[in-house]
Amino acid sequence: MKEARFWKPEGDRIRCQLCPHSCGIAPLRRGICGVRENRDGRLYSMNYGKVSSANVDPVEKKPLFHFHPGSEVFSIGSLGCNFRCLHCQNYTISMASLGEFGTRDMTPEEVCDIALENRCQGIAFTYNEPTIWHEFAYDACKLAKERGLYTVYVSNGFIQQEPLREISTHLDAMNIDIKGFTQEFYKGVCRASLQPVLDATTLAHSLGIHVEITYLIIPGKNDSEKEVREFAAWCSDLDPRVPVHFSRFHPDYKMTDAPPTPIRTMEMAKRVGEEEGLKFVYLGNVRIPHGEDTYCPKCGALLIQRDGFTVTSVEPRDGCCPHCGEGLYMVQAESKAVRPERPTG
Ligand code: SF4
Repeated sequence: MKEARFWKPEGDRIRCQLCPHSCGIAPLRRGICGVRENRDGRLYSMNYGKVSSANVDPVEKKPLFHFHPGSEVFSIGSLGCNFRCLHCQNYTISMASLGEFGTRDMTPEEVCDIALENRCQGIAFTYNEPTIWHEFAYDACKLAKERGLYTVYVSNGFIQQEPLREISTHLDAMNIDIKGFTQEFYKGVCRASLQPVLDATTLAHSLGIHVEITYLIIPGKNDSEKEVREFAAWCSDLDPRVPVHFSRFHPDYKMTDAPPTPIRTMEMAKRVGEEEGLKFVYLGNVRIPHGEDTYCPKCGALLIQRDGFTVTSVEPRDGCCPHCGEGLYMVQAESKAVRPERPTG
């Protein structure tokens, strides 16, 4: 464990200021996320360096389609979450308490070493919510940048402004999950609130973090054309070039009453997104021809072909269309990774 940042004392309680829940934590108790504890009047991050999951993934799996396309990223997660989504696909770690699920201790140095030994170009904080791992993620992201790796968050976007500003100095990209576009959905399904997520997404974009947005379409919950249109219009106002990934729902965890998203609903979302001015709309978790390919919004050229998480061709250069020069809101910088020396012999 490590002393946490972003809190203040309130009598014998501690007010955590990391995420918008702003938990008031009594002595020897933890906040909603289950990983920040009041001990002797100070707040501690109990999951510092506790890694529950680690894999080398294509960056497309995050999903990030306009950020180092075709690269591999060392992806790690811990335990806990500040949401309680009824349809969580990673509930075995996000809903687990420390000690309930096996973890491995890692230092920021080890995370970077493993990434480089596996010839990854970056590290990603994913699988569970990275915001509630802030102190470890900050230390690892800072070191990763020093060693030439890119850094990624896959996040629900439920973070207060100051911690987001702090991590932004070492964070290159975020995929932010906007889970629905009504407060009712956020309250009933996630036990959270929509507006702070929109505020954090806007701030992340304004801070220069590369942002892509995912919207999981759940039949009967957040799939009306009206709601999808309001979501798409908001994204378009933020920046019409920000890639939007509509993802197909499959029943999971406590939400087994909703069926998989019909293909016609996925197609509706793509049409509505484009009608609202979005330039890059993708369909994920489903095989729809060209649903994950990238086209130039100006000249229409096919620029990146994808087959599942595999990139089969990448034409853009320096983030632009090679045919007409249109900017694609795409990060393609060459890796400057400094790899650890391998033992000889
Ligand atoms: S990070 Fe955890 S303890 Fe802090 S406010 Fe959010 S849920 Fe509460």
